[in-house]
Amino acid sequence: MNIILIAPPAAGKGTESEKLIKDYALAHISTGDLLRKAINDNTPLAREINNCIEKGELVSDDIILKLIENRILEDDCKRGYILDGFPRTIAQAEKYDEMLEKNNLSAGYVFVIDIEKELAKSRIVGRRSCPKCGRVYNVSFEDSMPKVENTCDDCKVELIRRKDDNEESFEKRFEVYLNETAPLIDYYEKKNILYHINGNIDKEERHKQIKDIIENS
Ligand code: AMP
Repeated sequence: MNIILIAPPAAGKGTESEKLIKDYALAHISTGDLLRKAINDNTPLAREINNCIEKGELVSDDIILKLIENRILEDDCKRGYILDGFPRTIAQAEKYDEMLEKNNLSAGYVFVIDIEKELAKSRIVGRRSCPKCGRVYNVSFEDSMPKVENTCDDCKVELIRRKDDNEESFEKRFEVYLNETAPLIDYYEKKNILYHINGNIDKEERHKQIKDIIENS
């Protein structure tokens, strides 16, 4: 079983992925996480990626497609995987379809997490993550806070804030979502594999919506 998650920034793609991984033993492929790891290298490519992320712009399709093509063929993806943050454009979706066909795979489910812009913005302000395991917390919401202030419950290391989790980058990322990524809704609706999920509600309820679809279809 493969899953694609489409959503604006801070709609809960990362948190939802964690829950789906636990329930269905899927591999997690977050292009944002892969790129954030890649920027630690001291190369021109790393600087180019860093620049795009900080500005809230998309990284070039060539870079992304190479990352994905290698990753989906790794052993842990054989049982199924979640794509969190890919595809982000129609061009990426078309190339991904070609990859699927070439490797005899299917796209699986596509879930769009719909969320009000103002709620997404308020989530950005409090979002923190663990630099070791990637677990995401939100210090603005009681049900998503770490048990000990600013510390990962699992790894006990200090939480960090993403460089692009500020209002200016958020505005750009939201605009990019509407212009570049939202057209994918129509693309996957035509293939009859797309489901809308309400992201304005509690994360457990949101997860239940997704599980119900998977288990009843
Ligand atoms: P995310 O963690 O999904 O919010 O992604 C963070 C940033 O990484 C985005 O704002 C883009 O700069 C970049 N990025 C992530 N996924 C992609 C993608 N599929 N295509 C292009 N850029 C991406």
